[in-house]
Amino acid sequence: MDFKLTEKQKALKREFDQFFEEVMKDAPPEYGRGGLEGVYATPEGFEFHLQVSKKLGEKGWLSRAWPKECGGEGAPLIEQLLFNESRESHRAPGVDLFGHGMFAPTLIIAANDEQKERLLTPLAKGKVSYCQGWSEPDSGSDLASLQTTAIKDGDNYIINGQKIWTTGGHRAECMFLLARTNPEEKRGKGLSVFHLRMDLPGITVRPILYMDGKHLYNEVFFKDVKIPAKDLIGTENEGWKLTRDTMNFERSGVGFFVEGREDLKELVDYVKTTKRNGKYLAEDPIIRQKIAKLFIDLEVGYTLAYKIAWLQGKGGLSFAASAASEAKVFGSELAERIANYATEIMGLYGQLSDSKWAPMNGSMVESYQFCMGITVAAGSSEIQRNIIAWTGLGLPRF
Ligand SMILES: Cc1cc2nc3c(=O)[nH]c(=O)nc-3n(C[C@H](O)[C@H](O)[C@H](O)COP(=O)(O)OP(=O)(O)OC[C@H]3O[C@@H](n4cnc5c(N)ncnc54)[C@H](O)[C@@H]3O)c2cc1C
Repeated sequence: MDFKLTEKQKALKREFDQFFEEVMKDAPPEYGRGGLEGVYATPEGFEFHLQVSKKLGEKGWLSRAWPKECGGEGAPLIEQLLFNESRESHRAPGVDLFGHGMFAPTLIIAANDEQKERLLTPLAKGKVSYCQGWSEPDSGSDLASLQTTAIKDGDNYIINGQKIWTTGGHRAECMFLLARTNPEEKRGKGLSVFHLRMDLPGITVRPILYMDGKHLYNEVFFKDVKIPAKDLIGTENEGWKLTRDTMNFERSGVGFFVEGREDLKELVDYVKTTKRNGKYLAEDPIIRQKIAKLFIDLEVGYTLAYKIAWLQGKGGLSFAASAASEAKVFGSELAERIANYATEIMGLYGQLSDSKWAPMNGSMVESYQFCMGITVAAGSSEIQRNIIAWTGLGLPRF
């Protein structure tokens, strides 16, 4: 694998960096350190996200990697990685994890021409936001067992059931939904993918407050919600295969390592400027060793992320499935290690946030709490390890 960037790639990265540097000057205080919290926790943060999204849409950057026949430029995935890396390093919003990250690729694979025009165009222009309606109270890792139904009724489908952990469901305009169109069938058979608006009659969104008290996640209830049949994506009852393809898109990000690098930079500044018992923390050999170890892990993570972009460029998404799981499990657990170690160095003060005594403005304790969810979201670490065992190592499935 060639790690060197071409001159064109370097120039592109500079252009992305300049754009995000400029854009972040307008970030409202509520946006904080960005990420999912910055986007979903406050109305101001979400509004800022939508503004940036529109600017990215005007530049054509939200759809650069899409095929030309879908309105994109067919840009190589490595350029998409450079874009993501730049955006994440500035902690900038504007890309909808669900709309751009998951639903757009689904539409590219399976939508008809009318749907591509009606649903992909607003995504390309940054004018619509999505949430993901997959998990249910009894169907998370075992997603194929889900029970929410979508029953055909003339020119409509009628949705009944419940979704859970719907990130940003209280702010998103639309959802992409996985529901059972044939209740006679079990597991992956009889499931279908839909687009729907979140303001339809019969939809109730109830907050699930996270352990830090922030509102990012939700339960979503459907009671006789009517959606037009034209919002079925792909073939009826064949949504499971489509969903499996969509899962690979979700697991291909460089974001963990960029965020980790930014966090580690802040931690390095902290230990260089904070004294304990008359000495800077950075002079403590154990602290230095541990921080160096985290830095090495981050560099390993970066190579994993670049490997995914390279593999996908060579052989498509399923070709990179095992590598994408490696990056997800390694990246989410590394984020935990960084936050755990940072709070450990800070001692009892490390538990404080929203206090003038909180080291690094409480950012590490916030990370400590947030990271735990990320090792579960989008497929838990155990599930990722199963995928690596099956698809990467050829070990038997049970
Ligand atoms: C912060 C957060 C955000 C989320 N956002 C969304 C969202 O926006 N939309 C959405 O649809 N869902 C979302 N989810 C749901 C997420 O996809 C599920 O939580 C996840 O798939 C795990 O499912 P579960 O919670 O039902 O746990 P379970 O599947 O019940 O798992 C419980 C435990 O058993 C382990 N386990 C389960 N099966 C196996 C197995 N076969 N082998 C080994 N171990 C196993 C798991 O690893 C886990 O430790 C989110 C979750 C979190 C925590």
